[in-house]
Amino acid sequence: MTDQAGEAVVALEGVHKTYGSGGSRVAALRGVDLMIRRGEMLAVMGPSGSGKSTLMNILGCLDRPGPGRYLLDGVDVARLSRDKRADLRNRKLGFVFQDFHLLSRTSALENVEMPMLYHPDRITRRELRRRAEEALERVGLADRARHHPNQLSGGQQQRVAIARALVNNPAFLLADEPTGNLDTRTSFEIMDLFQELNKEGLTVILVTHEPEMSRFCSRVVVLRDGRVVRDEPVAGRQSAKELRDAFDREHPVGETLSEPSEAS
Ligand code: ADP
Repeated sequence: MTDQAGEAVVALEGVHKTYGSGGSRVAALRGVDLMIRRGEMLAVMGPSGSGKSTLMNILGCLDRPGPGRYLLDGVDVARLSRDKRADLRNRKLGFVFQDFHLLSRTSALENVEMPMLYHPDRITRRELRRRAEEALERVGLADRARHHPNQLSGGQQQRVAIARALVNNPAFLLADEPTGNLDTRTSFEIMDLFQELNKEGLTVILVTHEPEMSRFCSRVVVLRDGRVVRDEPVAGRQSAKELRDAFDREHPVGETLSEPSEAS
């Protein structure tokens, strides 16, 4: 890895976003300042309507900020054309969603290859396959490469989605309620995977409603009415692996609600 740990991967300065026009204008973001350094694991929280999705869309280069500045790895996103923004998104960002967003008719491997098809640099077929296999191995699913999503448990599907998000070696990973559709034990497993990847240096930005999930992060940012009202390190950051183990002790085999690990 050539990137230096600790350098700013995201710098938002006075970012505003307003929807609509005239009397029906809604100020979704009202001057957000946010600096995210490489290697952080950030939880973005806040009540419904506080601006989390709007912020995600801007961070994910899906939407352009209004007044204000967004530097992604030093690139001024607001100045880019729509196409250039899409390029930046494909090259630099990985997305993970609550409902996985996998293509149902293709294998895990092909799902993971997908973002590379849109990568601005040409990648050979063989290299495509190699990188996809490596990403699946990283999330512990090398032996499920040929399975289709409906042959995988929810947790396994989310792992495939995480492998897909990793495959272009992104500057950061944006995860929107990634455990929202998973049971407690599987949620801990997925958070453990994020923590492991974060330990390896990956920057993770997680949007979550669940305070329990934010305790696995290194820092919490809380939005309210389009503003950052709290931004602080997590005191006593928890290990998701430890919580999963504790869960197993409290729910001996036969009693857990967890999905089966074998789903072929
Ligand atoms: P959250 O994700 O925290 O629920 P949002 O970013 O979705 O918050 O919304 C912030 C504010 O912007 C809310 O008042 C919401 O109603 C408004 N908003 C979001 N998207 C749009 C849109 N496309 N058009 C008009 N208003 C919107």
